[in-house]
Amino acid sequence: MPDPHPVRSDLVGAAHAGARRADRERNAVLLVIGARREAAGMLASNGLAEFSDDFLGSRCRKTACSCGKYVGEGDFCERSTCRHSAGQHAT
Ligand SMILES: [Zn+2]
Ligand SMILES: [Zn+2]
Repeated sequence: MPDPHPVRSDLVGAAHAGARRADRERNAVLLVIGARREAAGMLASNGLAEFSDDFLGSRCRKTACSCGKYVGEGDFCERSTCRHSAGQHAT
């Protein structure tokens, strides 16, 4: 009977694990940004446009970056003045 939990001790396995981890982190970050967009849109459609950007916004946390909202759906913000990672916009 084959072992149902083969041990991946090779470097390829480790690299795959790292890639999967990065994938999960990116997916989680984009989920947060998407949820904030959705929540902010919900408030705006209810006429509640005034809310804390720190609470529901996705401004860039990178020091000295003035990007106020994440643009795009990928790893990095597509705003030309920003180009920082999605993670910088999700905290
Ligand atoms: Zn940005
Ligand atoms: Zn930025």
